[in-house]
Amino acid sequence: DILADQIAAGEVVERPASVVKELVENALDAHSSQIDIYVEEAGLKSIQVIDNGEGISQADVLIAFRRHATSKITDRADLFKVKTLGFRGEALPSIASVSHVSLETSTQAESAGSLVEIKGGELIKQQPSSARNGTKITVTDLFFNTPARLKYLSSRATELANISDIVNRLALSHTDVAFSLVSDGKTIFKTAGNGNLKQAVSAIYGLTSARQMIEFSGADADFAVSGLISLPKLTRAARSYISLLINGRYIKNFRISKAVVAGYGSKLMVGRYPLAVVNIKLDPLLVDVNVHPTKQEVRISKEEQLEFLLTKAVSQALSQENL
Ligand code: ADP
Ligand code: MG
Repeated sequence: DILADQIAAGEVVERPASVVKELVENALDAHSSQIDIYVEEAGLKSIQVIDNGEGISQADVLIAFRRHATSKITDRADLFKVKTLGFRGEALPSIASVSHVSLETSTQAESAGSLVEIKGGELIKQQPSSARNGTKITVTDLFFNTPARLKYLSSRATELANISDIVNRLALSHTDVAFSLVSDGKTIFKTAGNGNLKQAVSAIYGLTSARQMIEFSGADADFAVSGLISLPKLTRAARSYISLLINGRYIKNFRISKAVVAGYGSKLMVGRYPLAVVNIKLDPLLVDVNVHPTKQEVRISKEEQLEFLLTKAVSQALSQENL
């Protein structure tokens, strides 16, 4: 049902960055160790994601474009227990209903792969492909049939910044995967995928920044926190440079970010924010997943306890430095 897919797309696919997010999450779910992302004109001309993951079998390739065709999860409460990022089976059909998608994919087990093209929800091509091991998905003509969406987009620079922002976080939360992001032929960043957080930070935010970041950690009965925070002399004008990961999943939470900032006390000027990557480990039962389709906003039980722990851990790490 193309109309239903377009309605779902209104929620899942707000802008080019949402497409990038969904495609990269699919590549991560497919256990890729390398993910290369190419965008042209901030994703409005094209978005391409190439992975070396498990691929989709010939029998499943069209099913993947059907709504709620996910095999990844059975219960929403499982979300922070399971390893997969996708679980709704909405992304591919939604994206394909508002763009032109070309998907080339193959699995290790099958001798031939598949090439399918879908435009505005209609299958326009399906043939065997000789591509090996992994998936290449290309999205062009985004929002060609939903002009209102197109009009609502911000400037190219802003849309590209949104794309970088989401890819940064996905790369920081998966340091064992080699990422590259290329925009209009120019490499924005490239991570090694060797599991080293400091190296990933260096690839994304630059070596100078990475050198001015220190480790912090702390734990109590319910939470373990760790990661990298910048020294007070290295600050940013936006809170978005604080990346929060819960059990490896990137989330947004204003109060938790604030707790990180609070750890700096008066060391930070008003309106300035640290650069930080904050890993939070907890029992999945303590996470209350918000129903929003993009799955980034979550609520946490005992959140005040976590905020207290974070503020203390950050403040302790900073007090051990010669500032
Ligand atoms: P979800 O991720 O919520 O399951 P999607 O619509 O994003 O739903 O994807 C539908 C299905 O297509 C996935 O469940 C997966 O089986 C398959 N799929 C999509 N992208 C890839 C990929 N890059 N590699 C392997 N399988 C993929
Ligand atoms: Mg998905």
